[in-house]
Amino acid sequence: MDIVTVKIETSFEKNVQNGNPLLYKDAIATSMNLEEGQVIDVVTKQNKFIGRGYYAIQNKGIGWILTREKNVPIDSAFFEQHLKKAIDKRAPYFKDSQTTAFRVFNGEGDGIGGFTVDLYNNYLLIQWYSIGIYKYKSWIVDSLQKLLDVDGIYEKKRFDHNGTYLEDDDFVSGKKADFPLDILENGVKYAVNLNEGAMTGIFLDQRDVRKTIRDKYAQGKTVLNTFSYTGAFSVAAAVGGSLSTTSVDLANRSKQKTADNFLLNNIDLTSQKIIVEDVFHYFKYAVKKQLSFDMVILDPPSFARSKKHTFRAAKDYTNLLKEAIAITNTGGIIVASTNCATFDMKKFKSFIDAAFSHQKERYQIVEQFGLPNDFANIKEVKESNYLKVVFIKKLK
Ligand code: SAH
Repeated sequence: MDIVTVKIETSFEKNVQNGNPLLYKDAIATSMNLEEGQVIDVVTKQNKFIGRGYYAIQNKGIGWILTREKNVPIDSAFFEQHLKKAIDKRAPYFKDSQTTAFRVFNGEGDGIGGFTVDLYNNYLLIQWYSIGIYKYKSWIVDSLQKLLDVDGIYEKKRFDHNGTYLEDDDFVSGKKADFPLDILENGVKYAVNLNEGAMTGIFLDQRDVRKTIRDKYAQGKTVLNTFSYTGAFSVAAAVGGSLSTTSVDLANRSKQKTADNFLLNNIDLTSQKIIVEDVFHYFKYAVKKQLSFDMVILDPPSFARSKKHTFRAAKDYTNLLKEAIAITNTGGIIVASTNCATFDMKKFKSFIDAAFSHQKERYQIVEQFGLPNDFANIKEVKESNYLKVVFIKKLK
């Protein structure tokens, strides 16, 4: 493919020159008909070279700068080099026999925006965020097969402008896995399936949060886990010695999957409630029944629509917190989590402050988390640093 030179709009010049590899919508001045995956040399209006990258429409923008050096070929060796570097950087993860699932390559955080690679035991999962990067699939898959001794590879196509998953058979190559696969995370087992829709059963970016709940906050406590999905936080709490857990999720699938995760860790189900219900309805029920908990976990999606509710984290998180505060025991902990990329930690803390003020309660932040180290990030791309988790103690 020939390389096409494109001019950047003056208003975007500084941003890209200062190290941001993401080309935002409207950043490219020429009205050329660029093809998905096209290699581009990005220059200023004065024809000064800024960097070489590729064109691709995805949720975050219209392409990525891949190198700031002139005339670097974007070929299979280029991909292999970056993948190798990312793998080498994660040597401590590969060595840890108690954790068998983690992120191996995190897009622009590892030098190439547009795709991620996760390891689940001996299987890889590649997530593609544009048709453009998908054109480089064979180079990436071949490199991974060369660099890592895995049994097979699966993929998720998230080509849509919102990063929405495209339903498909997600098997790519190697040997097909026998799902569910039981992965280990800090010694705890979780069941995953890499070929069952958009999600795998576990969100790997919450690893440190699960460990903290288990090691520091669960012992002897009553735990409410809302938006519980496969119950991963509940399992972490139960392994950490919680008195009881209550998991609430709207999706029917959550019931069996949560029970399976408990059983995988030899946890007796008698003290674990699994409820299929709208969380907002459950809060009302809990108040009516005067239920309260030592720990309440909130991990809603950034956007969710149920029959009665539309929840938008950026607008509704404060209200969600108010409901949680009302049923948290004094001295108890609220774990507030969000993966919403449109606001930062400072804003998230302002929601927490507003909710406690409204409830006329005092609080103290006792822990906070962003993305773990395997989810490598660069400061220039703020929207990639989405995860915010705060442990809040409700004071007397
Ligand atoms: N906390 C989970 C991940 C949550 S994913 C974990 O750590 O694994 C978001 C979940 O919220 C999905 O399972 C979805 O079914 C659920 N959900 C969305 N809206 C909901 C609502 N109004 N009430 C209950 N669950 C909801």
